[in-house]
Formats: sequence, C-alpha cells, structure tokens
Amino acid sequence: MTAPLNPRSWLYPTPRGLYCEPGDFYVDPAVAVPRAVITHGHGDHARPGHRNALATPETLAIMRARFQGMPDTTQQPLKYGESVKIGDTEVSLVPAGHILGSAQAVLEYQGQRIVVSGDYKRRPDATCPPFEPVPCDVFITEATFALPVFHHPSDAGEIGKLLRSLETFPERTHLVGVYALGKCQRVIKLLRAAGYDKRIWIHGALASLCKLYQDHGVDLGDIALVSDAILESFKGAIVLCPPSAIADRWSRRFFDPIPSMASGWMGVRARARQRGAELPLIISDHADWAELTQTLKDVGAPKVWVTHGREEALVAYARSIGIEAEALHLAGREEEDET
Ligand SMILES: [Zn+2]
Ligand SMILES: [Zn+2]
Repeated sequence: MTAPLNPRSWLYPTPRGLYCEPGDFYVDPAVAVPRAVITHGHGDHARPGHRNALATPETLAIMRARFQGMPDTTQQPLKYGESVKIGDTEVSLVPAGHILGSAQAVLEYQGQRIVVSGDYKRRPDATCPPFEPVPCDVFITEATFALPVFHHPSDAGEIGKLLRSLETFPERTHLVGVYALGKCQRVIKLLRAAGYDKRIWIHGALASLCKLYQDHGVDLGDIALVSDAILESFKGAIVLCPPSAIADRWSRRFFDPIPSMASGWMGVRARARQRGAELPLIISDHADWAELTQTLKDVGAPKVWVTHGREEALVAYARSIGIEAEALHLAGREEEDET
C-alpha cells in the first residue's frame, strides 16, 4: 500500500507565490511568472507581466484594462465550469461571488482536489454569480474578516442609511468613497435595487471599470462623469469617488458634502474616523465570520489552509470542529477592501 498523497507535495507557497508543481504554474503570483492562474482582477492577485495567464474572460478583460492591454501576455480564457489540462493537473474555475469574473481555482491531481478560493463572499451580488461550494480535499480560504466580531449587516440596510440621509439633507452632496473595482459597481447596483433611479455621478478614476462592467452586461442605469457636468450644482446628488478623493481639492466643488465610505472596514469605528467618513456604510466584498465558518462546513474539506488576513482565529475555529487547519503565508497579499 502506498502512502496517501500529501497535498503540500504538489501545491505549496514559494517566494513568488503559491506554486503547483505538477502543472508548473502559480496561482495569483506576487511577481511576473511564466505561467499564472489568476482568481480575480484585484491588484494583489492579478499582476502584470506573466508570459501566460489563465483566468475567466471577465478577469482577463479587467487585467487588460488595468495593464495597458497586456500585449506581452498570452491570455488563456477559461469560462466558469470548463476545465483544462495543465501539465499533469486538471484546472477549472468556479464562481467566488467576490467581483465580476472572480473565481475559485479548482486544481486536481492524482485524484486529489484542492480549491484555491481567492477572495469570496456568500451574500448575493448583482454584479457576479454567487459562490459555489465545491467539495474538496483541501480548501484554501481567505481570512480578511476572520474574527467573530466581524458581522456585516445587510447591504440593503446600509444603502437605506444613505437614502435616508439624502431625504434628511436633500441639499447636500453625498460623496461616497468606493474601491474602483467591484465596490463601485456593486454600490450602484444596490442603489438601483433600492429604487434609486436618478443619475449617479462618478469620479473619472471610476469610469473605465464602470464601462467594462456595462460591456459585460451589468446595467448601471444613468451614470455620468463629474467632469462632464455643465452647470450642475450637485445639490442632493450621489457622487462616487475613490476614497482618497474625498479629502482632495477635487471635492471642494460640491455643496456642503457629506463624506461617506462603503467598505467592510466601516464596521470598525476607528477606521471610519480615520477615513473621515461621517456616514460609514458597511458593505464588503469579503465574507464575514459567519460566512467564513459556514463555508468551511459547506465545502466539507478535511484540511483547510488559511491565508490573507487574520489566520489564527479561523485556524482555531476549524480545528475545534475537527478540521486539520493551518495558516498559509503567501507572498504579496495586501489588506483589501480599502485603497
Ligand atoms: Zn479581491
Ligand atoms: Zn485579496
């Protein structure tokens, strides 16, 4: 009888990133590599300069938008649910519910299956298909909000706060800081779902990714660039901008603005204060504690590797329910959901 295959013998962290040896590729590498599998378009996962990049068509489109078209990268689009052989491995991509195009990388080798989930959340998001739990031998999970204190309230309730503030202060401009990729478009969709059908103004830095989402069938309704406005007072308007623009000269054009910000971190009062957000909106593209722990149960993996945030608490929780868990320290990961 041969010893069972040790998953760490074929997928392991290196200084360049998570390396799959039998496929000779990296998942979300920290530097440019010959062959990369990319889970989604955020900057700490998708980097420029790979010789070959495999990702969903949407993620490749985001990468082209961010990296001047990526002419030197051979792009290999793989749709959700399709699979491809790379070396001795089989690779497929499954929705992660994080942002447009975001995927879990499902890697199979010698009958063993490891799921690299990238970043994910479990609640509905009108800009991307929902996270699909995939049964596996090893589940690699993020841990951005992996503490029991992190509980993200309902998105509709948070958007309701913004709309109520507009009713209370109908003259004031509501300036909402959002991350350009994902959060911006999700906030717009949440406003539309709440029945807000007026024009939403955006900062120029948000324009190209909004256009990309629209090109991929995400209807954002009436949006327009602040810089294109003619004689617009912005009284009572909703204006979305990168968080850094709120404190910028740029924001002086608005009438008595109410600074707001949409981020999972807005649940932490000190962070909201630091951002100058008078109206903090807790809207996250990452799983909170309840979603993380539910996901471990849903995928049912006997082994879990935790990365990307507060590993210790989730490792301890997983062990407490009989899962073999350890922290996986990956190069090049940054705290996300914040710019
Ligand atoms: Zn992300
Ligand atoms: Zn991330």
